[in-house]
Amino acid sequence: MRSAPTILHLDMDAFFAAAEQASKPSLRGKAVVVGGLGPRGVVATASYEARVFGVRSAMPTGQARRLAPNAAYLSPRFSLYRSISDQVMALLRSLSPLVEPLSLDEAFVDLEAGGVAWDAASARRVGERLREDIRAVTGLTGSVGLAASKMLAKIASEEAKPDGLVLIEPGTERELLAPMPVRTLPGVGPATGDHLRRAGITTVGELAEAGEDELVRLVGKAHGQGLYAMALALDERPVVAERETKSVSVEDTYDVDIHDRVRIQGEVRRLADRCVRRLREGGHAGRTIQLKVRRYDFSTLTRSETLRGPTDDPAVVREAAARLLEGVDTTGGVRLLGVGVSGLADFTQEDLFAQAAQAAEAARAADAARALEAAHADPVAQEARAGEGAGGERGAGGPAAVDDTEHRSPPGREPSVARPVPRWTAGHDVRHAVHGHGWVQGSGLGRVTVRFETPDSPAPGRVRTFAVDDPELEPADPLPLVATEPAAPRGAEGTATRASAEAPRATEAPAAGEAPASAEAPAATEAPAAAEAPASAEAPAATEAPASAEALASPSGGRALAASRGAGEPPAKPVTAAAGGAERDGASG
Ligand SMILES: [Mg+2]
Repeated sequence: MRSAPTILHLDMDAFFAAAEQASKPSLRGKAVVVGGLGPRGVVATASYEARVFGVRSAMPTGQARRLAPNAAYLSPRFSLYRSISDQVMALLRSLSPLVEPLSLDEAFVDLEAGGVAWDAASARRVGERLREDIRAVTGLTGSVGLAASKMLAKIASEEAKPDGLVLIEPGTERELLAPMPVRTLPGVGPATGDHLRRAGITTVGELAEAGEDELVRLVGKAHGQGLYAMALALDERPVVAERETKSVSVEDTYDVDIHDRVRIQGEVRRLADRCVRRLREGGHAGRTIQLKVRRYDFSTLTRSETLRGPTDDPAVVREAAARLLEGVDTTGGVRLLGVGVSGLADFTQEDLFAQAAQAAEAARAADAARALEAAHADPVAQEARAGEGAGGERGAGGPAAVDDTEHRSPPGREPSVARPVPRWTAGHDVRHAVHGHGWVQGSGLGRVTVRFETPDSPAPGRVRTFAVDDPELEPADPLPLVATEPAAPRGAEGTATRASAEAPRATEAPAAGEAPASAEAPAATEAPAAAEAPASAEAPAATEAPASAEALASPSGGRALAASRGAGEPPAKPVTAAAGGAERDGASG
């Protein structure tokens, strides 16, 4: 193991929720829960304010709603999270060629390999500067752990949360670990934790005292030896650049064999959901769904099914896993079940476009069906539909929730078939011809409630309610959190290009020749175009699949500008906008 704390672990703080709070001024300092909003949805991230009520990641959203009924419940905006992740990863890659991303918001960096740190003092300097740069570039906070091994660096960043830095001096590891619960160690889940507790072992210190032989006896050879090494803080795993995730899988071993077929089906569904959550956390989608069944006699079967294209849709994975289970004989009982997804692809541009097209297609079909049904629907049926929407039909909670429940429009007033009605998902972006950019607070029963605010709004924006088919309202793309960058991050070649490319645009805004006060509002609508261009220009340099997120965002700049022109802004604005657009095309082409 190295003698200097030069392995860095970065973990963004409550990433999805923090991004939502940065986007939506009205949610700052409030309980925010990002996750699946349908009946089977689970929490992806809870803001620190929501965690006070006991809301946690991976908890069913229904349970979270009971714990924190007044929190804002938002459907995730992965394109935004991915673009922020790209910015963060670019900063990390400016420090070292050895960057190992674990998910969209978490990565190991070998600072020694990058030649930027060689001892505790230099490592701390790099870590502090990284935190500043992340804040400047993304507007969000991340916590940093520094240690001589990956295991300790990750434990350190956990200790540093939120918005902190913890450095573990080599030589102090065992002392530090000793009082910590065994669950602190990677790979020690609830089952192993319980098992060890029954043997009287609750802390890492007690693990070390138990000795290797005893641990092997308790939990088996491989796991026992691993546990003992971890308890002694021995971890030689290197930081591996661009870790290729080939598959994502989850499995559970049961203390008592399960015989009940219905319960087995339920477990498989649950595992499928957990697997998809992992998949999404890594920003992946996969084509092949696998089911693993270990029977009472230890015979292990795996069955798999390959889909036509990659998916990260929980319903698709659940259904595939259920189909696979149908072909497995479980009489006699099962002791282990697992669900995995392999054939992983980061979203390529085509995937994203295909997905967007599919989503639009599905929305059109659903809307047509809804409009047809509406003709002879009764309010009860409508309510049921509103409740079962895949995302966000129940509203974002908070003040708008009141708006949400009071619209009980008679069936006759459902949207007409003439124009396809977009699906309004809680938390997602919209643009109104008159009121500008906003986000959906809630939708149901023919109405949609929108809060009009942008990341740089000085105060929470106003809330208005519209008919779901209001012709002046359309879905929009997320606005970047930081419209212009305050400073070029140091020593980052890739990001230096971005900073210099952006400089002219930053000075362009005042050039429009408007008084500061009146310039403020238009500046907000122009921000996306300016900030998106450098992102898409940068993407090819990073040669990252995630670049596709910006590829989609790029045309959106055009749409946003077109919309803002249509909104009847002063003539000076479109000129600036056109100039910005032309320059952007030049930059990316
Ligand atoms: Mg995090």
